[in-house]
Amino acid sequence: EIKSINKSYFGSYSSFGIHRDMISDKVRTDAYRQAILENPSLLRGSTVMDVGCGTGILSLFASQAGASRVIAVEASNKMASIATQIAKDNGLLRSGGTDGDKNHHSGTIEVIQSMIEDLDSAKYIEPHSVDVIVSEWMGYCLLYESMLSSVLFARDKWLKPGGAILPDSATMFVAGFGKGGTCLPFWENVYGFNMSCIGKEVVEEVAQLPVVDTIDSRDIVTNTQVLQTFDLVTMKYEDMDFTATVELAPRTDSPLTCSKDLKPRSVPCHGLVLWFDTGFTQRFCKEMPTNMSTSPYTTKTHWSQTVLTFKEPIMMALGEQVDDKNGEVGSDACPALRIQSRISIVRGLEHRTIDISMEIFAI
Ligand code: SAH
Repeated sequence: EIKSINKSYFGSYSSFGIHRDMISDKVRTDAYRQAILENPSLLRGSTVMDVGCGTGILSLFASQAGASRVIAVEASNKMASIATQIAKDNGLLRSGGTDGDKNHHSGTIEVIQSMIEDLDSAKYIEPHSVDVIVSEWMGYCLLYESMLSSVLFARDKWLKPGGAILPDSATMFVAGFGKGGTCLPFWENVYGFNMSCIGKEVVEEVAQLPVVDTIDSRDIVTNTQVLQTFDLVTMKYEDMDFTATVELAPRTDSPLTCSKDLKPRSVPCHGLVLWFDTGFTQRFCKEMPTNMSTSPYTTKTHWSQTVLTFKEPIMMALGEQVDDKNGEVGSDACPALRIQSRISIVRGLEHRTIDISMEIFAI
């Protein structure tokens, strides 16, 4: 039953801990804050729709930035009433309802408890009359349990032609990681004892399954490639299912591969790490474009990264193999990996999960 399914999904969001975690993620919240507050030509006097407002934090920023009307939509009963209270306590709730009684308008925020998909346009807002949609819809690996389809729904129904979406782009990245990205080194030396049999079993267990984990950028052994870029303004629902083929070459600046005296001939790649960025680009954020990154090369976020471990490491060759004076070219290390990936949204289950399948070819 769809109804009870949605209940349990939205139920999980009404625990305040999750909202605390999201708000405390400074990379996340500061990116939105900067995009909203530091682009006055976009926000001032505008009609804003906040898709999935939670505590209402993005609506509060929008109101602060001078939006003339902020429609904050939240499916969870509990969070919708909390967001109403918060807007009120901060003097930013629009009172007087929608009856046009201007005298009672103290603030600009209206909180509506509804699934965005069920929002009654006759009652609240005309179709195609929103200037700016803001939403924090991203899930693990961008698309896991993400609300992207709800944002696209809101875009198609309420956004004015030429209206803005914050963020307006999202990009998924992939790179290969070395041994340090796995739990092998931990189990290889436990107070001086070798417990690597556990490490091997854990790798066997998680092999090929996506796991949310943090990768240290020093453990990345390949270059980084873009797996997919989404333009939130133009993308279609079908674009969330995609295939992409990329090639990963050994990273030349890796701490593991660029040591002067000890030049290894090859480096093991133990798996793939995925992450995403979202852009608040110059298209809409003319004064202050911003990029929010969940990369292993930048400050950690609550999304961490998504890790896919190979069953067996793949040796990647470094440098010019043909130059070998001793003629020892014959190692089975490969100069690059070709990744053929297929990512698709799994619908109709309790969670809006995603399916990631990757075929890896040593080339
Ligand atoms: N905007 C807030 C909360 C983000 S979490 C912040 O940035 O901190 C996403 C919120 O969207 C959750 O509170 C969830 O209940 C709500 N949500 C998810 N899908 C929704 C939908 N289809 N319609 C309305 N709200 C939705």
